[in-house]
Amino acid sequence: MADRTPFDIAREAFKLLTARKLQPTPDNYQTLYHEIAGTKRLHPFPEEQLHAIAKALPIQTPGQQRLQAQVDHAVRHHNWTGLQQALVGYTQLSPTPRPTADLAATATAALTTPTHHGEQQASALMLTPEFKEQLARLIEHTLPSIGVEDAQLAEQTKQLLLYFRQAEPNLTLLKTMLSNFNFKLTFVAEEHGAIKNTLLELLHLVFVNIGELSLDERWLKGQMDALITAATPPLTLRRLEDVRIRLKDVIYKQMEAKAQSMAARDEMKRVLAAFIDRLASMSDSTGSFRDKIELCAKQIEGATSIADIAPVLQEAITAARTMSLDTQRAGDELRAMREQTAQTEARIAQLQMDLDRASAQARHDPLTGALNRKGLDEAMEREIANAKRKGVMLCVSLLDIDNFKKLNDVHGHQTGDAALVHLTQVTRDCIRPQDTLGRYGGEEFVVLMPDTAMEQGIEVMTRLQRELTKRFFLAGSDKLLITFSAGVAELGADESGAAAVVRADQAMYLAKRTGKNRVLGA
Ligand code: GH3
Ligand code: MG
Ligand code: MG
Repeated sequence: MADRTPFDIAREAFKLLTARKLQPTPDNYQTLYHEIAGTKRLHPFPEEQLHAIAKALPIQTPGQQRLQAQVDHAVRHHNWTGLQQALVGYTQLSPTPRPTADLAATATAALTTPTHHGEQQASALMLTPEFKEQLARLIEHTLPSIGVEDAQLAEQTKQLLLYFRQAEPNLTLLKTMLSNFNFKLTFVAEEHGAIKNTLLELLHLVFVNIGELSLDERWLKGQMDALITAATPPLTLRRLEDVRIRLKDVIYKQMEAKAQSMAARDEMKRVLAAFIDRLASMSDSTGSFRDKIELCAKQIEGATSIADIAPVLQEAITAARTMSLDTQRAGDELRAMREQTAQTEARIAQLQMDLDRASAQARHDPLTGALNRKGLDEAMEREIANAKRKGVMLCVSLLDIDNFKKLNDVHGHQTGDAALVHLTQVTRDCIRPQDTLGRYGGEEFVVLMPDTAMEQGIEVMTRLQRELTKRFFLAGSDKLLITFSAGVAELGADESGAAAVVRADQAMYLAKRTGKNRVLGA
């Protein structure tokens, strides 16, 4: 048989088809061909059917998606080995995560008495001691946010935890206890949300009112506006911290101002009282002088001889002398009082100067409400520590307004001030709540951006440039475009904040030299 050609085999196969009265289908022909040739019949590759199976495979997890692609690839290339590997891979995958609603249903099923095999399996799976402990801990972790005000809820939680940690808790009872706890928790959560909102509203109201009361104090007014902005939702811990620091500054300043005005008031009261006393004693003495002179005048009228007049005259002279001494003394005392008042005035002026110095030592810039150098240094220290702890980056940007001197020269210093406030406002709107804005010097500002790489930092500053082209600064009716040059540095592993600012400053300087209105990375 070995010398037969495929042509011979084919011819014989046709003959046999006829002899056996078989239908001349490709399948029958193939069977006979292999029979004659003595070879094994090759089955055609069921590509279509296998594709249909591949399509039906689950693809919820990345692992399943990868394996389905492998199945698909193997089917397309008629690769049985590859197909086998992919399917074996499927069987070794961990169970598919159920959608949330499904999970909840399983959890509920796990807490009811099992009635058939499937549920029994689920409950065995869900209520392992570890799972129970996890649930108990979850409940424990909600305790700080529930607070201790609701004694009944506290007791209910304690009982639930105790029951959870029993070796064999009754599942039906546990389910009831859990749903009671859930029910109560919904109310507590709603109440806490409402309390938080009301407290925020109250805080706003207090800030607005203090702001209204201190209209004459520009420093306080600026601080209050900044506080109102800082206490606007969404709140973050960082913003609350900012509110706390600002409030401390405000309270300090108000206490100083109050102590100062009370001291001045006491001093004035004392001087006024002394003055009135003096006036009263003066009118007393002038009154008795008048009485004495009148008496003398009467005696003189009634005198019949010079001898009678002599003692009366003496009396009148003595009275006049006393009166003059009194007047002199009163004059001296009034002069002393005037000096004292002048001294008090000088002391108050000194106090005012001290106070202004104290405000300069506060953490916020009085004009713009942005952090001042001291505040910025503290924020930098905080952000560096934070970035190190979390292992994230910190971006530092320094910007300097372009041609600011010219703006001052053309439009006046006050307009220059307003431009600084405008820039601060636009910057605040452009950066995230967790970013920090500080006034580094005259028309130079620093922005600290935690968890930000240099490229993103450059993007933020470029966005701010764009925003300034949209939000013009109005000097009277003139629309002015404020531009700035900025340098952006990413804090190095062992770099100090000051060193990063220096690098940002160098990049800013380069931006100035290469045409201004640019942002460059350091
Ligand atoms: P450049 O583009 O190179 O930065 O030029 P410039 O004019 O902005 O910079 P220069 O350093 O020459 O001038 C800065 C000006 O900023 C000078 C100073 O009077 C003004 N300035 C600093 N602080 C204040 C402030 O608080 N208010 C006002 N109105 N002007 C200020
Ligand atoms: Mg400058
Ligand atoms: Mg400048």
